[in-house]
Order: sequence, then structure tokens, then C-alpha cells
Amino acid sequence: MNILDEFDTIAAPATPIGAGGVGVIRISGDKAFEIIEKIFSNPKFEPRRFNRGWIIDNEEKVDEVIVLPFFAPNSYTGENVIEIQCHGGVNVVKNILNLVLKQGARMAERGEFTKRAFLNKRMDLSQAESVADIIHAKTSDFAKVSMKNLSGVLKERINDIKNDIFEVLSKITAGIDFPEDVKEPEYEYLITNFEKILSDIDDVLKGADTSNIFRQGASVAIIGKPNVGKSSLFNALLNLNRAIVTDIAGTTRDVLRETLDLGIPVTLVDTAGIRENEDVSRVEQIGIEFSKQSLDEADLVLFVYDASQGLSGDDKEVLKLLENKKHIVIANKADLVSERNAGAQYISALTGEGIAELKRDLTSKVCDIEPETLDFVTNTRQQECLKKAKASIEQALLASRLYELQDLISIDVKSALLALDELTGELVTDDILDNIFEHFCIGK
Ligand code: GDP
Repeated sequence: MNILDEFDTIAAPATPIGAGGVGVIRISGDKAFEIIEKIFSNPKFEPRRFNRGWIIDNEEKVDEVIVLPFFAPNSYTGENVIEIQCHGGVNVVKNILNLVLKQGARMAERGEFTKRAFLNKRMDLSQAESVADIIHAKTSDFAKVSMKNLSGVLKERINDIKNDIFEVLSKITAGIDFPEDVKEPEYEYLITNFEKILSDIDDVLKGADTSNIFRQGASVAIIGKPNVGKSSLFNALLNLNRAIVTDIAGTTRDVLRETLDLGIPVTLVDTAGIRENEDVSRVEQIGIEFSKQSLDEADLVLFVYDASQGLSGDDKEVLKLLENKKHIVIANKADLVSERNAGAQYISALTGEGIAELKRDLTSKVCDIEPETLDFVTNTRQQECLKKAKASIEQALLASRLYELQDLISIDVKSALLALDELTGELVTDDILDNIFEHFCIGK
């Protein structure tokens, strides 16, 4: 049976429901044309031409629309697709969608259009996953790099590795299957190839931390004693006046959070001063507790002290807390001093000195690769597949170094190939697919 026959016709709004200039309703499946013909005043379609006309319900005009026809297989899903561009009001979109559903379409599930695109081989799984990344990207850098995934950059890298593995596997298999005609490959050949494959896999895995941070964001906490300039630094990094800045110690009582776009999304947390002091008021004490919690949750800590005062005993205590935590030591109020001690980054939250450098350092501390240099991103599912493939090739490499039987080596090589097939989607279970497409929105 043709895979297309298994699918009924689905429909959903492709634009967010709300007031807007244009709303788009998408229909995909065998009956897409049949359905639109029943409710549209101008239904003679030709490929690559849009039609203007009215959506009609029982001879009553519902909305003036533009309809774009896509003939299978030249559409997003690979099926017949109709896109109706109507006016963008909530009720207009609802009315037209209801009409479409009444004519026999079913409401699409989350990600179902993209799932069909994958099942109909319009894209591989890494490309399908990038669609969700593009839609949900928290920074413009992430949207750009996800676009590269959609255009197939990751897919090509993985396919190159798969081809290399496949070539080695073919040579081993030929040697095993036709021992009289084909010599089994030299162990030296196997070792060289496995080493190359491993380094290529490592290369793809290199941006993994940065990829994950692109999705999850990095939490960066600013800590230090009262009055050293934490709130001023928070504002300087964000270019705003969100935190209250005063010269009375202990004014920042709440924990403030703001998102900063440094290519990766950074949640900046301004905390109350850490100070073990009997006199602090109850409210401030709560703020202090918050600080310690933010500290635990942070991916990176910016520890601030006052350069004009130098490092105090308290500061040194706090620095001890940070020994096992990624951190940057910041000497603020650099405008007040001329001397510079090694080990601290001098800035002035007041004049802006050193802020741009600090932003760069901050990114490189939390990322394994500069976000803007990434050619593709990977997600945790893909990283797991790559790690599985890597472990199998490592086994194969070890076995080759020990001159083990080549049919044993071939088992590991095959499982590496299967792990990469899982990545690109050649070998994938319904559960995995459901899990992936569940995170999409309706209409995608
Ligand atoms: P926090 O309690 O650590 O959040 O400190 P604030 O940001 O509220 O700043 C305390 C005081 O230090 C305010 O009077 C700020 O204007 C001042 N201040 C902050 N940063 C600098 C700086 O870089 N240079 C100078 N000269 N003063 C600063």
C-alpha cells in the first residue's frame, strides 16, 4: 500500500490564533482539493498559481481569501496541500476551519504536518526536528543555526560518516562472504578508518553543550556583598534600569531575573548581598536565602567585589563557596582605582568599561563553542545516537588493534550504523516519533 493511502486528510490553522493581518489554514491529504472545491468560489487550480475568491457556506460569503494549491509530491508534507490565506481574526479562522472539518478533514495533531513530511521522505528526522527549533528559538542566532539544520547541514555530516562506516563494513563483509575472491581488509586499513570516523563523530558532538544551552538557556547569577555594584552590573549587562540602584547597603531584596540575548539566551539573576549578619531585617534575610539557592542553580556565577575596597575577609569566604562552580571574579568600580590585580576582571558598571569583554567571556565560559561559529546544532536525542555510534566504533577500533576476527568487528560496525540510522530516522520507532512531534505546535 502506498504510504499516502494510510493518511486521512488533516487541517489546522498554521498561524497563531489571534487578531492579525492574515490567518493561514492548512489542509493536507488526498481530499484537500475535494474539500476546497466544495467551499471556494474559484476552484480551478494550476500548479504554482494562487486563486483569489470567496469561502462560501451555503451560498453565504464567509471571507474573501487567497488559496495556494500544492500538488503532491511538491508540497511541505509531500501530499496534496491547500493553504487558505484569510483575514486574521479569531472567528474568521475558526469559521473557515469548521467548514473544512465539516467537509471531511480531521483536526491535525501537534507536529502532524511535519511528521508527514518526514514519513513521506520530504526531510530526514534531523531536519524535521529543526522545524520545532526554528519555531521555538529563543535567540536569533539559534534560529539561524536551526535553519542550517533544516537545509540539511547536520544530515549531510551524518550521511558522510554513515558512508564511511558503510564502506568499511562492505569491505569486511565481502572478505567474510567471499573468502576465495576477496581478501579481507588489512587491520591497518580498519584502524585508520575507525580513527577517522571517531574524530568525525567527535567533531559533530563538539557543539553539543552550546546546542543544549541554545534550547535551555544558561542561568548566570551575580553575587557579592551589598553595595559592590551588583545591581549596577545587572543593569549595565541588560542596558536597562530594572534593578534599583542606591548607595544604601541591602537595597536589592528580591531576586531579579531578566533574559539577555548573547547569541545564547542567558537568564541573569541579581541576588541580594550574601552577608551573615545578625542585624539584617527579615525581608532581606529571605533575599539572602534566595541568593544561595540561585547560586546552586546557576550555570555560571559572576562574583563581584568593590575594587576600591579590595577583597575583604567576607569576599574570600564567598570565593571559597565558589571553588567547584564555574565563575568569573569581577573587580567593579575600576574607575576608582589605578592598580590592577591579576585573577580578576576589572570593570566599571558606572562607565561601561569592560562590559563588552565580560559579555564575551561569559559566553565562552558556558559554551563549548562560540554560538555564532556553529554550523549546525544537535539535540539530546541526536547526541545519544552519536554517543552510541561512537562507543561501537571505539569497540571496533580496539578489536582491530587486537587483530580479532573480522566478523566480530563487523557486529560493532553494524551497530554504529544502526545508531546513526536512528539519528536520521531510517530506523525509528513510533514512540520516538510521537515523542519528537509532541513538542511541536498544532499546524506545523
Ligand atoms: P549592590 O548593592 O551590590 O547591588 O550595589 P549597587 O549596584 O546598588 O551599587 C551601590 C553603589 O555603588 C551605587 O551608589 C552605585 O552608583 C555605585 N556603583 C556601582 N557600580 C559602580 C562603578 O563601577 N563605579 C563607581 N564609581 N560606582 C559604582
